[in-house]
Amino acid sequence: MLMLRRWSVRHAATLGRLYRWGARWMPRLAPLVRGLGTERSERLLRPLERSGKGLFFDCRMCGQCVLGHTGMACPMNCAKQLRNGPCGGVRADGGCEVNPGMRCVWLEAGDGRRRIEGSAQAPWLPPLDHRRGGQSTWIQVIAPDPQVPGVEPLQPQRAANSASTAAPPPASALEAVLRSGRFVVTVEIAPPDSADPSALLARAWPFRELADAINITDGAGGNCHMSSVAAASVLAAAGFEPVCQVACRDRNRIALQGDALGAAALGVRNVLCLTGDDVSQGDHPQAKPVFDLDAVNLLGVLHGMTARGTYASGRALEQPPRLFLGATANPFAPPYAQRVDNLERKIDAGARFIQTQFCFDLDRLRAFMDEVCRRGLHRRAAILVGAGTLSSARGLKWMAEHVPGVAVPDAVIARIAAATDQKSEGRRVCIETVQALQRLEGVAGVHLMGHRNEATLAQVIVEAGLRPAKPTIAAALPA
Ligand code: SF4
Repeated sequence: MLMLRRWSVRHAATLGRLYRWGARWMPRLAPLVRGLGTERSERLLRPLERSGKGLFFDCRMCGQCVLGHTGMACPMNCAKQLRNGPCGGVRADGGCEVNPGMRCVWLEAGDGRRRIEGSAQAPWLPPLDHRRGGQSTWIQVIAPDPQVPGVEPLQPQRAANSASTAAPPPASALEAVLRSGRFVVTVEIAPPDSADPSALLARAWPFRELADAINITDGAGGNCHMSSVAAASVLAAAGFEPVCQVACRDRNRIALQGDALGAAALGVRNVLCLTGDDVSQGDHPQAKPVFDLDAVNLLGVLHGMTARGTYASGRALEQPPRLFLGATANPFAPPYAQRVDNLERKIDAGARFIQTQFCFDLDRLRAFMDEVCRRGLHRRAAILVGAGTLSSARGLKWMAEHVPGVAVPDAVIARIAAATDQKSEGRRVCIETVQALQRLEGVAGVHLMGHRNEATLAQVIVEAGLRPAKPTIAAALPA
């Protein structure tokens, strides 16, 4: 099956032509379908479609076939069932984050699209309508039912990001500081495994007056912790500026929209939309991954709530939430050439700030940012580049091998391994990266990460000259 799937992508140009010819020709069968009735036609077409497309494309019969937009690679074979991939966890050899033995479906989609369209850049595809699962798409091509949702690409929500429209007042303090042009500092902390908020506040405390906002992860790595909405609201109540991370892995579109309203009601204004790591690497590998939406469609849905005041269903909200929406990007995972396409789609869907994966490779970041600036994307969304430090070369190596989407060049690991004080050397590498980011065109700030490494990150902020030392931090710094 895999061989045939590969064959189909290799012959995507021919199959694409056949596909388009079929789409033009099939409507001639409409009188036949009307004569037989929809149900009987569906019963006839379904097995034909299942076996034909199953053989060539390993088709999973989602009922909303988008092969024409995905280079003849069926996106239902993506382990996260993304309609807008790839995710940030693609392995260095192109293997899937979840099933390393399988090449990422979205790399295949890129290859196929290049053969058909001459460009790998996929359009923004709408979310799945799960009611259609197992049904025929062909019948919709022959005799479209206006009640059945289409699969046509969605249009960029340019109005929200356009420089030509008068900017609404900032939705959050983070948005305000980004608009001021100051080099922004955000940090990421993990919420505790505790019902006591004091552990969370203790982690946030080192960043008071040093960071412009604090991200709260949402079940990072598929591990269970205090909910990100609740933790973000605890921080907001304590006077911090939180960024609530929302992963599509654990909730469907009903819960995600409810959480967005709840977050806004609790004073949380910054929401970072992620697809999320798979459950297989976490502490509950037996859990059901949801992935009802992907990050791009979650952005689209939340943008609809904030800008149009409607749920995804179209039902009006009594009071729309005021949210500053963000997304992630990973310039350090393949397919490198498509990473800016991926970013552009997220901005089209409504992202106004971007936080990237850890940067240990400035050359790769420079290539990414050159293209970002060439397309003017840095003017439509603020780009905050991820940086961080671990206390040893061994820890870094482990992260590079086990954390999806993190790439650490061997030279960086060797430099830290050769140092007598590996922790200090790791911090020095991080400071050098932060200082290089300040000089890089299009970069609006830095996003610092490091698991339970708050004191070191606070030290990096001060030593990199991003913010003056607080009296408490200054006292802790070496002379
Ligand atoms: S790497 Fe990510 S996007 Fe690619 S197939 Fe696997 S889960 Fe899907």
